[in-house]
Amino acid sequence: MDSISKQHIALISVHGDPAVEIGKEEAGGQNVYVRQVGEALAAHGWHVDMFTRKASAEDSTIIEHSPRCRTIRLTAGPEAFVPRQEIFDYCGDFLEELIKFQKQEGIEYSLVHTNYWLSAWVGMEWKKRQKISQVHTYHSLGAVKYQSISAVPMIATTRLGVEKAVLESAERIVATSPQEKEHMRSHVSTKGNIDVIPCGTDVERFGSIDKPAARAALDIDPEALLVFYVGRFDPRKGIETLVRAVGQSQLRNTDKLRLIVGGGSRPGQSDGIERDRIEGIVAELGLTDIVSFPGRLADEVLPAYYAAADVCVVPSHYEPFGLVAIEAMASGTPVVASDVGGLQFTVVSEETGLLAPPQDDTAFATAIDRILTNPEWREQLGHGARKRVEEKFSWNGVAQQLSGLYEQLLTEQPIKTPEPVTA
Ligand code: UDP
Repeated sequence: MDSISKQHIALISVHGDPAVEIGKEEAGGQNVYVRQVGEALAAHGWHVDMFTRKASAEDSTIIEHSPRCRTIRLTAGPEAFVPRQEIFDYCGDFLEELIKFQKQEGIEYSLVHTNYWLSAWVGMEWKKRQKISQVHTYHSLGAVKYQSISAVPMIATTRLGVEKAVLESAERIVATSPQEKEHMRSHVSTKGNIDVIPCGTDVERFGSIDKPAARAALDIDPEALLVFYVGRFDPRKGIETLVRAVGQSQLRNTDKLRLIVGGGSRPGQSDGIERDRIEGIVAELGLTDIVSFPGRLADEVLPAYYAAADVCVVPSHYEPFGLVAIEAMASGTPVVASDVGGLQFTVVSEETGLLAPPQDDTAFATAIDRILTNPEWREQLGHGARKRVEEKFSWNGVAQQLSGLYEQLLTEQPIKTPEPVTA
């Protein structure tokens, strides 16, 4: 490693705590991404500090994940859960705390990688105060998201402004799929530097257990035709489409069809409301006996669930990347996904699974049935899926690309500094 890769870098994820349990309210792909990127970059020699907002008084302030990788929770606003549309109010305090921490520790970060627009704002403001390169990953684009929802929140104008400004001013934007890059160009701005570096997954952990062993461990009938979902309970995740598709399946009366809907929820919070709504639809369709809700699936059991499944379904209305798809694929399980965003990049229809139009119950039912009724083809798709993840989406490969990008930016940096004027 040369001296550049020994430098201190900051990852900012104001609302997505990289050290939190995944699958709970608002904790999902971003938390996983930041944590994985942080740990992998530390393994590549960088000193990585990941900054997030402290969302509970009981949480520790600093967590050491490995010798060169920490999560640092800054107090900005109440030390309690705050919905993300209200967090912008505390971003100014977050920046002040960040700068204070840097001073106290005697560290000078040379590069900041921001995640989601709230952190983008912090990064842009930070750049006004010191020399630091900014890399940004959006995780979600307001301009795309607001197209598909009826009630646009008050914060929309601010968000859209920040998303445009960061695209035009950051040293580099990381798009996680060519589709996301295209959306940035068509919906946000034609200016700015974008690199496509996908999200990755752990190809050792996912794929470590075979189907019979996984089913035995989870006490699932070896003969079951098992459809699987895991993720947040959010209407945009399209769980309703999946439930209605299972309701329409031609296999419904075979006695073998099962649906597992994994993911956490908190009573009274928005994800709890969505879970109640989904359970209501399950009951209304008479599917209670074949659908189960095991709740949040912890890291230790998740690989077994993916391996136990015959098909994993990702029915999102929109998805910039979609980690669940590559986790299932790494586990050798074909994926039926909405034909949108990053899922068009990860899932190759007819080779690693199938794509179906979002919110189209019938198309999802047809796709699921095609896979479930053809076990040999299912196996082939599973092999294709695993191969694609090994080739394109392993964390190691992804971290190498990010590390290369940082090095490139930090080497370029001196060129951007104005030369002293000589007489
Ligand atoms: N996840 C988990 N347990 C759960 C629910 C979700 O570990 O009970 C993880 C899942 O494995 C994936 C992430 O949360 O790594 C969800 O990421 P994705 O990109 O699919 O969706 P997002 O939450 O970003 O919309």
